[in-house]
Amino acid sequence: MLLYLSEITESKVTRDVEYHIAGDELGESAEIKNVSLKVEFYRAAETICLRFFGNATVLTACDRCLADLELDMDLDETYYLFPENTPDVDYFYSGDEIELDDYVRETLVMNMPGKVLCSEDCKGLCSKCGADLNLGDCGCDRSGE
Ligand SMILES: [Zn+2]
Ligand SMILES: [Zn+2]
Repeated sequence: MLLYLSEITESKVTRDVEYHIAGDELGESAEIKNVSLKVEFYRAAETICLRFFGNATVLTACDRCLADLELDMDLDETYYLFPENTPDVDYFYSGDEIELDDYVRETLVMNMPGKVLCSEDCKGLCSKCGADLNLGDCGCDRSGE
């Protein structure tokens, strides 16, 4: 999705972000669906501010027992873009448009949950036989661990 510099003024404007996630570009361990994202933009002199906010659903797995988990994720990231060749800044713009897709992707990645558990006291999988210990003890002797 492109944003034209001519559209960015000193008054804040909010717009829906159209973005389609291609395959596993966010990593293979998690999948994102139902992305609902808006971008708010304005300029202050030469600086352009982009704020992405909204929410999405992440499909991932419990770090201990590998059960499927579906998490709601709040998204909120702000970027300040400076003219090309400004020293010591992270984000630039040049030409007469800004490609928003990279910022959207980064917003999603930055907000991805790290290790998640299906519950605080998830017992995980048996290290000997792989049984899901939340369903009951498998009877293996794991005392040596
Ligand atoms: Zn679990
Ligand atoms: Zn076992």
